[in-house]
This record gives sequence, structure tokens and C-alpha cells, in this order.
Amino acid sequence: MLEVSELEVAYGGVRALRGLSLTVGEGEIVALLGNNGAGKTTTLSAVSGLVRPASGRITYEGDDITRAAPPKIVARGLVHVPEGRRIFSTLSVHENLMLGGYLVRDAKELSRRTGRVYALMPKLAERRDQQGGTLSGGEQQLLAIGRALVAGPRLLMLDEPSMGLAPLVVAAVMDVIREINEAGTAVLLVEQNAKAALKIAHRGYVIENGRHMLDGPAGELAADTRVVEAYLGGV
Ligand code: ATP
Repeated sequence: MLEVSELEVAYGGVRALRGLSLTVGEGEIVALLGNNGAGKTTTLSAVSGLVRPASGRITYEGDDITRAAPPKIVARGLVHVPEGRRIFSTLSVHENLMLGGYLVRDAKELSRRTGRVYALMPKLAERRDQQGGTLSGGEQQLLAIGRALVAGPRLLMLDEPSMGLAPLVVAAVMDVIREINEAGTAVLLVEQNAKAALKIAHRGYVIENGRHMLDGPAGELAADTRVVEAYLGGV
């Protein structure tokens, strides 16, 4: 469904990606793991058209989208939830959700999609008229994911959804991601929390300094001593 090949991205003199390749198949959750500065966020930004690669190719559902404009990419169902949630704190939960549907012209379809988000995340339904800024960190993360769902993703890219959340809240967010996937949406999940990500992912990639280091089925990565030592806090 998504194929990133030999991607090179530089910010001025800083080479953030040095020939990165990865794929996400239909129905998969793929974890993209790596330390701070490894190039995870840059990978998502390049796929969603927010940064321009110096070279390499990104294909989505068979089409080259390497230089496509971000709204075109979203319209095709490739939706990015950026790091740090970026919800609008003075708008209500419902208004935040509606912003995810800015490309949806059919009011009935929009209301069907917000209804689906409320069914999946009852906490958001309870807080529908509350200002986004009054939600807890976990609820704000759910709202950011919910807003992306309203855009109708076929492939959802999530940047560090566990950031700053307590372990129980991380588990709840990961459960929601799994449910979204089970309902048919593929997921590319960027995480520093390798343990949480590998619990729900089918496959994973570990990158370092903008390059591929390891990849494989999630279970194998979680048992790999190199991953355990570097990302899972030792044996
Ligand atoms: P993090 O978890 O900290 O977001 P990451 O794996 O997502 O890390 P990136 O944010 O993609 O990594 O950063 C990759 C490299 O590119 C790092 O060396 C970073 O300092 C650099 N970088 C990222 N964004 C910019 C920018 N806007 N300008 C200059 N350098 C940048």
C-alpha cells in the first residue's frame, strides 16, 4: 500500500534520512522505531508531503506521491497525526473533530464519521462540548487520532502517540489504535516506546541516523537482543 524507497532528506547541511526504505501493507500495523533524531518524524513528514526529499521515491496505492501536495495526499486517505497532538485548545472537542473533515462535503457522511469516533472513544462523546484544552493528555491524544479518523484514513500515520502519557493511558491509546486497525485501516506507528508499539504491531523497522538498521515481525524484534538492549531497557 505504501512503499518508501531510498529516501534522502536533508535540512540544510543536516542529512536526516540517508536512503531509507520501508513498506506498509494493506491491513498492517508497522512500527517505526529509533532514538531521538533517528529520522522517524522526517519520514512521516516526507510521506505526507510536508518536507521535500532530495531523492528517493514514495508510492501509495501504486501511484508516485513523492512530490504531491499535502491536501492531495490527505484526500487519498493517507492521514498524519503529528507529534504533540496539536489540537485547538479553545475549540470544543466536537469542533476539533469537525476540522478533520474539512475535505468532506457531504454533511451526512461527516456526521457518520464523527459518530464512529464517539462510538470508538466514549470519553470524547462525554466531553463533546468541552474545550479541547481542558482534556487530559490521553484524551487529547485520542482527540488528535479521532480528528484524523474523520478525514477517512486508509493509512493512518501516528507520530509518538504515547509521548508524555502514563503507562495505563499508553495501553488504552494502543488499544484504540489496534481497534482502528482491526476495522480495516493500515497504521504506520512512530514510537520511542518500542515495547508498547511492538505489542500491537505486526512488523517493525528500527532506524538509526536516517538509515535502516533492522526490520522484521514484531515478535522477533521484541526478542532481538540488539533491540532489547537499545530500546527495551536491557534484558
Ligand atoms: P524525535 O523523536 O526527536 O522527533 P526523530 O527520529 O523523529 O526524532 P527527526 O525529527 O526526523 O528524528 O530528525 C532527524 C534529524 O533531522 C535530526 O538530526 C534532527 O536534528 C534533524 N532535524 C529535524 N527537523 C529539522 C529541521 N526542521 N531543521 C533542521 N534539522 C532538523
